[in-house]
Amino acid sequence: MKRNRNRSIGMGVGRSMQRDVDNHGKYAASWWKRSCQFVLRPKWIAAAALSCLLFVPNSSHAERTPDRDEPILLELSALGKQGDTIARAREQVLGILQQQNACSAWFEESDPDPAEVFRSLHFELEASGPSYVYGMRDADRGLLYKHPWAAKAFENAGRNSTIFLNANGPFFIRTSRIMQLDPGGVIARPTGSLVLAISPYTGNSPGAQIVILLHELGHITGRLPSDDDSWDGRSARNTAEVLRHCKVETNAAIHNTSRSNN
Ligand SMILES: [Zn+2]
Repeated sequence: MKRNRNRSIGMGVGRSMQRDVDNHGKYAASWWKRSCQFVLRPKWIAAAALSCLLFVPNSSHAERTPDRDEPILLELSALGKQGDTIARAREQVLGILQQQNACSAWFEESDPDPAEVFRSLHFELEASGPSYVYGMRDADRGLLYKHPWAAKAFENAGRNSTIFLNANGPFFIRTSRIMQLDPGGVIARPTGSLVLAISPYTGNSPGAQIVILLHELGHITGRLPSDDDSWDGRSARNTAEVLRHCKVETNAAIHNTSRSNN
């Protein structure tokens, strides 16, 4: 089957706005606290042990239902802090897709159960993925910046497939060095830094992370046409299409998370 392996998003082609790179973002990957972490103080241990004894089910009557999320969450925990970031964004995307809203309805045009497709997906990090923003002056479009790719997935890959995340891209990183290309596109020289962005959301922010995952789900379900890591702007147009249907839900998910953390 012919598949494009270079699918990617968030190239930001056409963006020419350079922001203050010393303005450290309000978003940090470590802001998310694992909901299951807690500390057992000595006086609680006896009570906890007792309650375990009292509530151990009789195996002949109660079979444990396997948690559908458990295998994926175990894989993510093995990825350390970056896995925590993915797990938090994954939870927010599941929250969006499990409700009846414009975003889930749009995905349902391609698959009747987009939440379950998303729940089944695996995640892999590309530790040596590209980190630079490339700048180039185009005769028709002016100064263009191509951001490092954020994520990729196979078109129409379906359930149990994988989202590949660039460890040096805007899912995890807020600012990147710019390499300015000469008109021939051959020689590159460093010219400063740029805040990475996925449409209105800065790199390494919950909004960017949610939109990146929704974009890849769009490829996996065939909802979005394929794109690649080029200057043609198709990836940015696909992200704009995701936002056209999912911006309200993305902003609500960000708002709900920040409220529950206060
Ligand atoms: Zn794409």
